[in-house]
Amino acid sequence: MDAPGLPLGDNEIGIDLGLKNQVMCSDVDAPYSRENLTRTHEAALGMAQRARKKPRVKAIHRRIAHARKDWAHKTTTAIVNRATLVVVGNVSSAKLSKTRMAKSVYDAGWSQLRTLLEYKARRLGVTYREVNEAWSSVTCADCLARSGPRGLSALGVRVWTCAACGGVHDRDHNAAHNILRCGRATLSGIPRL
Ligand SMILES: [Zn+2]
Repeated sequence: MDAPGLPLGDNEIGIDLGLKNQVMCSDVDAPYSRENLTRTHEAALGMAQRARKKPRVKAIHRRIAHARKDWAHKTTTAIVNRATLVVVGNVSSAKLSKTRMAKSVYDAGWSQLRTLLEYKARRLGVTYREVNEAWSSVTCADCLARSGPRGLSALGVRVWTCAACGGVHDRDHNAAHNILRCGRATLSGIPRL
């Protein structure tokens, strides 16, 4: 492998991977999100399948995969280019793939995003970490109380207030901050959350 380059940016960035907001970074307020590609092409795909037009079905699948990859490349490049540390949660699609969110999980392409982040980070000499994100969405990033909404039903809750300190949190943004803290802890040897 070639010697890594030097980081272009100096931000330490925690990343929460999600379904609706596919990528939320701790250092910016707005998420990186795109349309659900599977859903966008669902009708056309169904029609082609029912008509048994195999080449058409293949072409639509290719278009979806291409759009997903293109978006993932642009997003991960933008993130890594301003970073010196990138920390991402180890959210697993297997856990959610049997739920009603299965299609969104598949569409989100989390492992593709992680693969690209790691590859680009290595190339630029940016430190890359994956951390256990089990408590990231229920832990208050201000006071560390586990006071957030829990369970699958909580996925619909975007904003919550910490019962312990009164802090108001955007769920994904709060999670991104917790993920960053876990990543920093792995660097300094402090036990994780
Ligand atoms: Zn709190």
